[in-house]
Amino acid sequence: MLKRIRCDIRGIVQGVGFRPFIHRLARRFELSGWVRNSSGGVILEAQGKEGDLHLFVTAIRAEAPPLAVITGLSREEIPAGDGDDFTIFASKGGGGGPEISPDWDVCSDCLRELFDPADRRFHYPFITCTNCGPRYSIITGTPYDRHLTTMAPFVMCPLCRGEYDDPADRRFHAQPNGCPVCGPILTLTDATGKVVVGNPLTEAIRLLAAGEILAVKGTGGYHLAVDAANDGAVRELRRRKLRDEKPFALMAPELEEVRKFATPDFPEERLITSPERPIVLVRQRDEHNLSPAVAPANGYFGVMLPSTPLQHLLLRGNFPALVMTSGNLSDEPMAYRDKDARQRLNATADFFLIHDRSIQTRLDDSVVRLFQGNPLFLRRSRGYAPRALPLFAGQRSVLAVGGELKGSVCLTRGDRAFLSQHIGDLKNPETLASLEQTAEHLKKILEIKPELVAHDLHPDYLSTRWARESSGLPTVGIQHHHAHLASCMGENGLEGEVMGIIFDGAGFGPDGTIWGGEFLVGGYENFRRWGHIRQVHLPGGDAAVREPFRMALSWLRATFGPAAFDLPFPFIASLSPEEKKLFDRMIQRGINSPLTSSCGRLLDGVAALLGVRSAVSYEGQAAIELEGIAEGGKERPPLPFLIARDANDSLILDFTPAIRELTEAFLVGDDRASLARAFHNTVARGAVDLCVAIRQDTGLQRVVLSGGVFQNRLLAEGVHDLLAARNFNVFTHRLVPPNDGGLALGQAIIAGRSSSCA
Ligand code: ZN
Ligand code: ZN
Ligand code: FE
Repeated sequence: MLKRIRCDIRGIVQGVGFRPFIHRLARRFELSGWVRNSSGGVILEAQGKEGDLHLFVTAIRAEAPPLAVITGLSREEIPAGDGDDFTIFASKGGGGGPEISPDWDVCSDCLRELFDPADRRFHYPFITCTNCGPRYSIITGTPYDRHLTTMAPFVMCPLCRGEYDDPADRRFHAQPNGCPVCGPILTLTDATGKVVVGNPLTEAIRLLAAGEILAVKGTGGYHLAVDAANDGAVRELRRRKLRDEKPFALMAPELEEVRKFATPDFPEERLITSPERPIVLVRQRDEHNLSPAVAPANGYFGVMLPSTPLQHLLLRGNFPALVMTSGNLSDEPMAYRDKDARQRLNATADFFLIHDRSIQTRLDDSVVRLFQGNPLFLRRSRGYAPRALPLFAGQRSVLAVGGELKGSVCLTRGDRAFLSQHIGDLKNPETLASLEQTAEHLKKILEIKPELVAHDLHPDYLSTRWARESSGLPTVGIQHHHAHLASCMGENGLEGEVMGIIFDGAGFGPDGTIWGGEFLVGGYENFRRWGHIRQVHLPGGDAAVREPFRMALSWLRATFGPAAFDLPFPFIASLSPEEKKLFDRMIQRGINSPLTSSCGRLLDGVAALLGVRSAVSYEGQAAIELEGIAEGGKERPPLPFLIARDANDSLILDFTPAIRELTEAFLVGDDRASLARAFHNTVARGAVDLCVAIRQDTGLQRVVLSGGVFQNRLLAEGVHDLLAARNFNVFTHRLVPPNDGGLALGQAIIAGRSSSCA
């Protein structure tokens, strides 16, 4: 007695070899029927013996192709039909809309062929199959089909075509399929564009070994590469990249090599070797043979393994590691179009290793660190975007445009949220154009028509202005820290009311001050600011972000009064009497010095106090270096702090007592590393005590931690462990960054659930 079932499969099941996989399974269990893509996933009908059908469905989940992510599989019995074949049908629309796979590492089958001299793709830098390779970066439209990718101009040779058409082949409908005869090819040129004679790969390896700087075209853009063991070359790259003090990312040939210069633990190793191939922050070894200029003033290396065949080939050139930093100058977005890369990088790179397949979507490398065994994203981009994030409930379709720093956009469709790749800091028209482009492209390939646009409350953010003036849709403004709260709630599937510790750099507060050390109570619908870090002035506004010594002055002024300007700190001694008077007046009267409760700026100020750094080249640098120093510090008792209620009945967490004791201890010569550590512990204790007070007020047990300061592992760990010890339920970010890179997700959920809009 034959039975027939119909299955509807959702998730990332297109462009990942899913239909041929179903076809192979159907043959194994001797089933007839068909499979086809729908716009929401894959639909199939299968007919056979009841037991076989059962095994077949079980195997769909158990043996799904490596790139597939099944989020839903429904089956129903239908009347049996005719036919003994199992057919793969062409795509057909309908349903909830497509999902797009991120770009992935080379699979082990392709890797084996890449290094097999007998294989026709031996050393071919663009080898790929349905289980691996570029996806999001090359897709120009949907359905995912070769003519809607940047592979469109390449006409397959008969051998490749044969693979592509054969359902039993690993390359059946592998859209980027190609070979040295018909696919993309590599070219090596000098900075003027003149082609270097010889095998591009061999020559590139020779040049790198000789200490030259190469621009290398990758999956989502250009990298600048040098031999990481060549100190002169690394320093020269740093000099040419202008004012850039950020650590350079490293690419090592394999895990074995990583262990020689860093000390990854098991979860870090698992993340490094995952097919998403992110940059993972791992502790440096005390002794290693890489250039100290790779990551100056930093105890970590950002390490990744090769993720394209070209990178695998380059790294076989016997380098312990290559510096692989974004192809840009200081804060610009990474170059990804060939002409633009040539123009912008020709003064930085000596040579260009390029190819003739264009990149549709710029994708920076993702950056992750481990937090209690889970990934903590600093940047979510290549390998992850635009994978769907599940939402607890279906909601209205929204486009959220994020904040200003670490921009990204988020689109929702039903109970799915699609957070874009990292776009960059929205400080110029180019990044804004990139935001607009990303939103348009994602709308197209994910087939989403948003009903409204969510944006930050800050009226001057370029993203806010774009939403209000150019999006052409109804808009809704979402408070910055409310969005952080919702982002963390959303990825953890929380409903109802929670409290949130939102520690970050800066966000627009509805009261006209700058928020950033917030204790919120609420949910998606609304929130209340239950408490915050004591406010101080931000002397000179944005200048205080670039010059943390201004924050030190402000905290000292709040702690010691006018006597602050007589304290024997070098950054105070270097001020003239006029400057001191000016700063005092600015701080006293709030002239060009808005009030802020920012936790990030508090840590900046303490970094400057302890002589870590009085000016920075990127936001948060001083606080990051302070954390590095604190990690090496000995434990000492925490510093004092106060909790009080202000006239509005808000709880105020006051760190001036801590600043007083820290100052006195530092000025009598106490070890600054242990002081830095003690300050981290103090902030954690203060935050947790404040949560205890909120629990007394509200009865709430659940706490979410969000905001850029929670990239700080020492602080995050302190807050997390102390909260857990007091029986709170603590929720942190694991899927999206705690920083503003995850803001759009929170905005999208709040807006999608609300009914009112402007
Ligand atoms: Zn493969
Ligand atoms: Zn071919
Ligand atoms: Fe923020």
